[in-house]
Amino acid sequence: MSKLQNSFFQSCLIISSLLILSACTLNNKTAADLPLPDLQYTISIKDPSTHCFHVELNFSGWMRDTVDLKMAKWMPGYYQIMDYAKGVTSFSALDNKGKNLPVARPDSNTWRVSGIINMTFRVRYEIKADRRFVANNYLDTTHAYFVPEATFLYVKELINKPVQIRIKVNSPWDKTATGLDSLPEKANEFTTSDFDMLFDCPILAGNLEELPPFEIDGIKHRFIGYNLGSFNKIEFMAKLKEVVKEGVSIFGEIPYKQFTFIGIGPGYGGIEHLNNTTVSFNGNGLDKKESMNSMMSYLAHEYFHNFNVKRIRPFELGPFDYEKENRTNLLWVSEGLSMYYEYLIVKRAGIINNKEFLSELEGNINALENDSGRYYQSLVQSSYNTWIDGPFGNPGKGADKSISYYDKGAVTGLILDLSIRNATENDKSLDDLMRLLYNRYYKILQRGFTDAEFQQAAESVAGISLSREFEYVYTTREIDYNNYLSFAGLGIAETKDGLNGKRRLSIIKLENTSSIQDKIFKGLFGD
Ligand SMILES: [Zn+2]
Repeated sequence: MSKLQNSFFQSCLIISSLLILSACTLNNKTAADLPLPDLQYTISIKDPSTHCFHVELNFSGWMRDTVDLKMAKWMPGYYQIMDYAKGVTSFSALDNKGKNLPVARPDSNTWRVSGIINMTFRVRYEIKADRRFVANNYLDTTHAYFVPEATFLYVKELINKPVQIRIKVNSPWDKTATGLDSLPEKANEFTTSDFDMLFDCPILAGNLEELPPFEIDGIKHRFIGYNLGSFNKIEFMAKLKEVVKEGVSIFGEIPYKQFTFIGIGPGYGGIEHLNNTTVSFNGNGLDKKESMNSMMSYLAHEYFHNFNVKRIRPFELGPFDYEKENRTNLLWVSEGLSMYYEYLIVKRAGIINNKEFLSELEGNINALENDSGRYYQSLVQSSYNTWIDGPFGNPGKGADKSISYYDKGAVTGLILDLSIRNATENDKSLDDLMRLLYNRYYKILQRGFTDAEFQQAAESVAGISLSREFEYVYTTREIDYNNYLSFAGLGIAETKDGLNGKRRLSIIKLENTSSIQDKIFKGLFGD
């Protein structure tokens, strides 16, 4: 630690007495192992009623005369350009004597500071945080939610450097929830090995509530949140434990040291991370069975993402370029199969029954079959174009020529699962494909898979060509539901909705099924 850095530490008073409740490690490095960071950020919240917070970056050891500080344009997990730089105001850079340094704006998300060679300097800026959304910063008098991509300016050349974060608040807030490592014996100070890890760990601060944690295979799982609401919290955590258990059992191991569900308050949507997930959450109403079931389904989806997309991932989704769209054809795998698995997991956890499981699948089938976009857009096109069309396609805006990769992806998950089971007499299933991808690409090759590699992996599990099934991925060919459902002794029945003329497809049980059909049905649905 240099002298200047020492004096910085000594001069910073920690106003807050927040308890650090979350300290998850993502890799084998601990805070003590990390080299001294060159980048130290301090977030200060002076008057939360303004919805503005202050960020100061102390920067040392830079050997050039200028540096480009950049704000990310999007956050992984939410595949839309957000232009987070728009939230930055009052930017200034000061040398070690407090004198203003020249700042230029070469483009909309870059601040270029000059005259800094071999100098320790500070950058200060304000962030406006007034939009409640899981992919946006939000601050009010009750809590703060920091999206790291929208908060911390980064330097491309230092993206792999360790970073240190400090949060100072004046409010009597008592807890912080994040997946970041906390610094030993430092209240509200965190460190990460690099910016990718920092950007994977949003921070929630406020008077938070932590529900009783549970352990699976000795690994702690926590649920911490703001304004959780009134519901049976013991029952909720017991069900969540079963959900996580079923997710883990697919892969046979837990790849993190701790996992935190972070409830950011009422709203819509959740975003997945390696050792945590941030979820919009309102527990009021969870005493109704249907609400609890759909909440568990939603949490199963976000949890399953820690495997599917954070670890098993498309080739293009890592390392990320935070300045532009990271396009991939494979969001149907990351999102659609996660949707299929959210149903499977809550079914296997005993939270929903067969009828409810089928009803979820019928929901996706009917959404797809009533979407004229299916004649125009394939699954890969839907994935690739999500940056333009939005995550659920572009319904209702002119001629609907887009689809949702959630709906068709989940349906394709069912078709692949049934095809693999049918080709192997129920010896193998989609679970084997997910395990193969996890072991081969995440653990051994430590990279994402390509479109062709995904199909090859599926075919190697099935032991046959699946080129016909992958036409549902690459083309707009109409899905032959009866063919695939019949593998499990099921079929499809269609009626027209008298009121609005929409198609209504229902999954039905066939009569006089064979022993193989019964075996596949049992494999998929249980007894
Ligand atoms: Zn998702």
